[in-house]
Amino acid sequence: MPSLFDPVTVLSGVGPARARQLEALGIRTLYDLLTDFPRDYEDRTRLVPIASLTTDAPACFEAMVVTEPRTSHIRRGLDLTKLTVADDTGRLHLTFFNQAYVAGQLAYGETYLFYGRLEGGLLGVQMTNPAFERPGDPAVVTRRILPVYGLTAGLHNKLLVRLVGQALDACLEDLPEVLPTSVREARGLCGAAFAYETIHRPASFADLAVARKRLVFEEFFVFSAGLALLRARRTAVPHAPYRNLSLEPFLAALPFSLTGAQRRAVDDLLADFAGSRPMNRLIQGDVGSGKTVLAAAAAYVAAQNGCQTALMAPTEILAEQHFRHLEPLLASLGVSTVLLTGSLGAPAKRAAKAALADGSAQVVIGTHALLTGDVTFARLDLVIADEQHRFGVAQRAALSAKAGSPHLLVMSATPIPRTLSLILYGDLDLSVVDELPPGRQPVDTFLVGEALRPRINQFIRRQAAEGHQVYIVCPAVEEQEADSLKAAEAWAETLGKTVFPDLRVGLLHGRMKGAEKEAVMARFSAGELDILVATTVIEVGVDVANATLMVVENAERFGLSQLHQLRGRVGRGSAKSYCVLISDAKAPETRARLKALCATNDGFQIAQEDLKLRGPGDFFGRRQHGLPVFKVASLACDLATLQEAQEAAAACITASPPAEDSPLWGRIRALFGDGETVFN
Ligand code: ADP
Ligand code: MG
Repeated sequence: MPSLFDPVTVLSGVGPARARQLEALGIRTLYDLLTDFPRDYEDRTRLVPIASLTTDAPACFEAMVVTEPRTSHIRRGLDLTKLTVADDTGRLHLTFFNQAYVAGQLAYGETYLFYGRLEGGLLGVQMTNPAFERPGDPAVVTRRILPVYGLTAGLHNKLLVRLVGQALDACLEDLPEVLPTSVREARGLCGAAFAYETIHRPASFADLAVARKRLVFEEFFVFSAGLALLRARRTAVPHAPYRNLSLEPFLAALPFSLTGAQRRAVDDLLADFAGSRPMNRLIQGDVGSGKTVLAAAAAYVAAQNGCQTALMAPTEILAEQHFRHLEPLLASLGVSTVLLTGSLGAPAKRAAKAALADGSAQVVIGTHALLTGDVTFARLDLVIADEQHRFGVAQRAALSAKAGSPHLLVMSATPIPRTLSLILYGDLDLSVVDELPPGRQPVDTFLVGEALRPRINQFIRRQAAEGHQVYIVCPAVEEQEADSLKAAEAWAETLGKTVFPDLRVGLLHGRMKGAEKEAVMARFSAGELDILVATTVIEVGVDVANATLMVVENAERFGLSQLHQLRGRVGRGSAKSYCVLISDAKAPETRARLKALCATNDGFQIAQEDLKLRGPGDFFGRRQHGLPVFKVASLACDLATLQEAQEAAAACITASPPAEDSPLWGRIRALFGDGETVFN
């Protein structure tokens, strides 16, 4: 008897060639075959009389062959086999293309079950290539719900149905039950054997729903158990509580008082610091809600307790900006901060590294190269990751392995839908900053076409005349032939020379050298530029309060969340701010997407919309997002199950961690990739 992890070649009808085709689908073992779930189902359960067949949908019917099947050779490569079948309600002509063998299978005077769709044509109603079998045969292509598998060339659905059937017959009982009985019973979930049998060979759609529910839960449970294990690991190491938790000097040094939401987040941070486990926290807040100051507060507390902080930003521009804002604030409190980025000169780098190694600098700001490079710390104890999805599960796991178990604080870049945040950050405690600093007015957003260009230019001029600054974001850096995309380089030149010769126009894009970028950003921050033409390098985090207008060229090219981020660059001061989306795109979906942005300033609502429109894979654009691949579960639809599974998994892992050789561990390893970085 074959067993679960035997290669597919143990099945009858699978030789080396078939095995290679299956391998292309990622199927090597019987287990792989059983976890290659159908992507759809055809309902072939109902038998109808011939008179009730329609052209709308295929159906099953039972009929007798009433003419001798005849094959005619039409031309090279085209044979037609024709016959007529009948039941009490009518007659029907059947035509098979290039299937001359059916003439030998369908015998005059015998009754068969068929499945097909009527076609109405010039020659009258008929049916082409119906599936058929004898009433005494096992129900394979008729009288059942037929699973539809994702196929590759050369592998037919029928073959997969047969192979999966063999695998089920051989090893259904071997399938490991990864869900604890108590968890299954509490939620009324069916057992593994029933679920796998039913997802492939459903007896009814009701059963199918029961099976799917369990498999979705199982998938989320395995994932959540993985996150819970990570979390347990990271917090297993005790951490000496910080003794000095006074924030008063820090708060007194701020030019503003914290919002209620910021205050609550700070309280969460202080409670973490006071505890005897490492902090493990995510701060989520919409664009402009003031997360940076929370990072500074945390770094300040760490410094008061003799510890160093590494603050990692996703781009050098952002690291430099944080440095410009935080260094003076922290310095006034006696906390020394250094900047460490790739584009820093060698002597400056050396000095910064020396200060970190001997402990004379308490805070370092840089990109996440900080943790991968050859930087040594006297006493690193707080790691803050700002604005990046790239600091995913794997990086978090690697961090605790590398740096001992420091306090960890992640600040999320974009507001992300709750499902995705549970998936990406399910191992972290959450603080939400759901309040903007006082005095902010919502940014008015407009969608306009090229035709309004003169008016947009006037509008830009007026903002500049009032002493404000303007961003113009282009989708590309250089002009590409054939494409009508606005390119930053050429557009900056045109604007500077011919449209606004009297204004100061700067250019910023990702291909510039670090020092050049820094110089341009510094000039814009200092108000020495009126207009900054840029690519999306300014997407996250850039903070210049005097900028009041964001113009986005070819807005159709950007995702909703990305546009929301771009819009977040303005409306940061007390002056009224605007966002103008320029697009001549006609497609109704595109216009609907852009209008959604004009309608609301609520980042979470926009994120949810974006997830719906683009699906989780594209949600983060081309950035590496580290989302695991779920086979049955849908991140857009199964939110409630995800939450349940997460609670159940956390409870189970706390009560009794799974043994390293348990099926659950095996599944966790498989889901998180080879587990090299995450689980080793
Ligand atoms: P984000 O959450 O997008 O990272 P930032 O931290 O960049 O937001 O903050 C946006 C702006 O709001 C900054 O200029 C910051 O100084 C200012 N800010 C933050 N908190 C407050 C507050 N409580 N009152 C007034 N302004 C604030
Ligand atoms: Mg920020």
